[in-house]
This record gives sequence, C-alpha cells and structure tokens, in this order.
Amino acid sequence: MRDHFEIRDHDAAGRIGRLEVPRAGVTVETPALLPVVNPNVLTIEPRRLAEEFGAEMLITNSYIIRSTDRIRDRVLDQGLHDFLGFDGAIMTDSGSFQLAEYGDIDVTTEEIIEFQRQIGSDVATPVDVPTPPDVDRERAERELETTKQALADAEAAETGDMLVNAPVQGSTFPDLREEAGRHASATDLDVFPVGAMVPLLNSYRYAEVVEAVRAAKRGLDPDAPVHLFGAGHPMMLALAVAAGCDLFDSAAYALMARDGRYLTVSGTEHLEDMEYFPCSCPVCAEYTPAELREMDGSGGDSADQSAEQLLAEHNLHVTFEELRRVKAAIRSGNLLQLVDRRARGHPAMLDGFRVLLDHADELERTDPVSKDAFFYTSHESARRPEVSRHHDRLSRLAVPDRLLLTESDAPSNHDYDAVWRVKPPFGPFPRALSETYPLTAEVPERIDGAAQVAAAEGVASLAESNPDTELTLGHDDWVPRAVDAVPDRVETENLRHLGR
Ligand SMILES: [Zn+2]
Repeated sequence: MRDHFEIRDHDAAGRIGRLEVPRAGVTVETPALLPVVNPNVLTIEPRRLAEEFGAEMLITNSYIIRSTDRIRDRVLDQGLHDFLGFDGAIMTDSGSFQLAEYGDIDVTTEEIIEFQRQIGSDVATPVDVPTPPDVDRERAERELETTKQALADAEAAETGDMLVNAPVQGSTFPDLREEAGRHASATDLDVFPVGAMVPLLNSYRYAEVVEAVRAAKRGLDPDAPVHLFGAGHPMMLALAVAAGCDLFDSAAYALMARDGRYLTVSGTEHLEDMEYFPCSCPVCAEYTPAELREMDGSGGDSADQSAEQLLAEHNLHVTFEELRRVKAAIRSGNLLQLVDRRARGHPAMLDGFRVLLDHADELERTDPVSKDAFFYTSHESARRPEVSRHHDRLSRLAVPDRLLLTESDAPSNHDYDAVWRVKPPFGPFPRALSETYPLTAEVPERIDGAAQVAAAEGVASLAESNPDTELTLGHDDWVPRAVDAVPDRVETENLRHLGR
C-alpha cells in the first residue's frame, strides 16, 4: 500500500481519497483540481485560489521558472510558496510539455528534479516524453523507453520528503499504457499522471481518453493516486473521476477566458454569443454578458476588472462547483447517474460514457455492493456494473425444478415450485430479494428495449447455470430482440396477450 494515499469512499471506479503531501505539511482531499499558475502571469492570485475557490493544491512549471532570468533567482531565494503566496501543496511540471511542443529542451531529469527540490516544490516531475496520439507503434515504444529511463533517473535522485510524479505514457496503444502503468507502479515514485491527454481532450476524443485511463489503471496498483494531466474542463470531470482519476489540473479556466470562452458543465460558450449567464457564481450574479463585453471594449486596463479576469473567475467557480458535485455523488453512490447526465451534453461525452460501460466488469470490482438507490435514466443504465453483478449472482442462487419468472404478480393458482419476479434491466430474482440493492431500483413505467434485453440476459444467465430447471417467463410485451435473447428452452408468454 502506498502510505501517502488513502481511499475513503468508492463509487464505480471513482473515489474520495486523502493525499498526504509531507513537504507541504498538508493532506489534500481528492478528487482535487489543481489550477495551473503561470509564474509570469498570475491571472488570479494564488492566495485567492485558496481562500475564494478552495484550491488545496496548485501546479506551476519549474522549467519556465528555471529558464526565466527575471524570476529564477527570486524563486530560488524566496522559495516557491513565498513567491506565489500559497500555503497549500504545489506540484511542478518539468518542461515535458515544452519538449513535446518544441522537440527539445535544455535540461535533464536529474537537473530538473534537483531544481524542483531547491525551489521547494512539493510534488516534482521528471522529463518524460508525452508521446502524442496516433503515432506509429515503433515511436510510441521508443519514447516509452525514454520515459522509463526518466523515471529511473528520478528514483535515483535525492528528493527528501518531496513526492515525485511517475508519468504513464504509451500514446493511443492501450497495451503500452497498461505496461507503462505496471512499470510506473513498480517504481518507488508517488503520483501517477496519465500523460499526453491534451491533444485528445482538445479534439473531444473522450472515448480514447477513457480507454487510456482504464488501460493505465489496469497496470497501476488499485491504491495509486492517478492524475489526468491537462484535464480541467468541468464537462468531463465526472466521467474522468468515474474512470478512476484522482487529480486534475486546469489551465483551461485562464486560457479559455483569454479567448472569451465561458465554461459550463455541458460545454463551452462564447461570451459574444451570450445573452444570459446560466450560473450564480459571484461573477455571474453581478454582471450580465453585455456588461462584460462592454468592459472588454473599454480596454480592461485594471487587472481586477477586465472581462478576461472575470471570465477566468467564473470558469474556475464552475469547475470547483462541479468537483464538489462529483464528490457528493460519490458519497451518495450516484456518480454514474451524474456521468449519465453529463453524457447528454455532447455526443463525444456519450461515447466516453459508453466506453466506460464497456469496462463495467472492472468498475464492478470497486463499486459498492449497496447504495441508496439505482435510478434507471437512460439506455446506458442497463449496462451499469450493478446489472452485470446481479447476473453473476443469479448463478449462485438455489433454484427449484419448475420455476415461473414473471413481470406480473404471482398467479393465485399454479403448479410451479416457485414464482420469481422479473424486473428489467436486472432480470429474475426471488421475491425475498425485492427490498435489497439494486433491485429496489426506480425504473420508468415505459421501460425501453435496452432494459428488456438486459433482463433477458439475466434469464439466460439463470438458464445456463441451471440446465435441469424447467423455466417459464412471463414478460410484458418485450421487444423482439429481448425475446430473441431468451434461450429457446425457456417457455415464454407475453402477458399483454394474456390480458394480465
Ligand atoms: Zn458564473
């Protein structure tokens, strides 16, 4: 067990945890959002990030500090915390991003780790190679070897009580990501960023983001803290947390504000197109979109009053608000319902959610056995881990010789040995289990085909594990593909036709 990270609560693969950062003397609650602070341009003062937004940790770039003469000596002299005016935990990046952008940087892992230690960083980063998506395999493998060497160099460095990142690369090859995760996990490094995600995030390739995260997680220890490097749009936080990410960093709040972009939990709007602000943060409560536009026109010379500054503040408010909503959802056990809602904001988000559900068996391992309630809110609900868990459980239940499975009440006169209930999307179960999770689920009266198909799969699972049992199924006018999914040897009756 990694003793600096403790997991308190689970929902799907999402968790609430506590990351101990010894050098800063603080414990950070995860999922956590680290605002990106440009050491040259403090869009929002770090002190305000802590006091007004609740940031417990931030991230800045040690490579920029080291290569900017104007500030390097000051930071070395004062220390990073004093220089930024921030008492919480500070993570530093190493210049890997610059390496990816410009192809070359003039610093080694050994040198940059030592520099990060000297300036007082709490979580340092080696110079890994963020291999972009879609490269050929040979390049992805070669660069992964360089990243592994960077991790070895970081392990060998004198770091004291500073934590060190072990980035997980591998481009868009899931098997390389998994191998990279396994390798990183075997080092004695501390935090595990899934790297080179920005090109995927920028082009809304959320399905591949989820694939990369799940692949990395298969390689990593279950209790390793995972950072989704470069991800901070509020729209995708719930999805990324449900996939198993614990740390996020947002440069988006400031970068987007510079272009007049306004973040929401379902996408990005342009200030110039907006008539109303759909938000009640301090900025949106005080200004209208028209007022912000006018401010921009007047030059916005005072840093406090520029539209860019105010947009950045809104962007950060909405992101932290979503993070709190995600944490609350984990505590209540309805994180996947929140992901489902967010998935409706953009088709690419729906793809990401569907890929997450492709891994329902992996999510099932950490999903709590009992929660408050299961709400069936979309086709995707039929693929939640609770449904497959119920199907697995069916194979372990004691079953009599002649069994009626029915969506309606038990008939008053019958010669079956037992009558079980059938409830889409779960399928059959003994009536005695009706009050147990997830069979207490709230489902719509107009149930859809996906739920009926899932229920039919439950019937198939029961039939398969009890080959000698005589099974009859009474269903409420299921769609043909659900009826087709019921094994032939199960006798079926359409209750609607029987007038029941
Ligand atoms: Zn707002």
